[in-house]
Amino acid sequence: MSVLVNFKICDNAKECGGIVVCPTGALSYNNEKNTIVIDNKKCISCGLCEKECPIGAIQVAKTQEEYIKLENEINEDVRTIKDLFVDRYGSIPLSEFFVLDSENIKNKIVNDNITLIELYNDDSIKCLLKSIPIKDLTKDMPQDTLFYKVDASDENCKEYNIKELPSLLIFKSNKMLGSIEGYYESNRKKELLEEIVQIMKE
Ligand code: SF4
Repeated sequence: MSVLVNFKICDNAKECGGIVVCPTGALSYNNEKNTIVIDNKKCISCGLCEKECPIGAIQVAKTQEEYIKLENEINEDVRTIKDLFVDRYGSIPLSEFFVLDSENIKNKIVNDNITLIELYNDDSIKCLLKSIPIKDLTKDMPQDTLFYKVDASDENCKEYNIKELPSLLIFKSNKMLGSIEGYYESNRKKELLEEIVQIMKE
């Protein structure tokens, strides 16, 4: 009965939800060493901590085989903690570079560049690691493509006829070419890219 933490992607926070929900104290925080500590003698593999981790850094094994498999997967994981700090569609903005005030949308869409505006709100924010990095979304677009994230007001949603957030609005020369509504996790990246290309063709 074991729990594993992938410290390559874990932000090692004192406030870790896995520690909070663990009924046996198998997960705890060492204040001196500033790290999450695992005591697998106490783990009952209930799985509560795994469900709590928004980035999938905590995994629970019920058998020795499963433990070895998960341990190998973690050893082979090429991601690093830096991957947590990448701006993504559908997740909280990290860099001010992408942030735009809701009343400034109009000033940014008058140019001839393709301009992507992501409308989001607190409820639409999803997992950092599983969302699609903005650089992946724009990689096959013209080099001067612009991307902004807007904490959307009700007026924004009404104006652009948006029912679901996050939503991606695509503009060129002051004209909205189209929009895509809803969250796309990284396993749906291809689908999202195809939808964007389709809108840009129309
Ligand atoms: S699986 Fe259950 S007992 Fe084990 S660390 Fe997670 S919450 Fe604690």
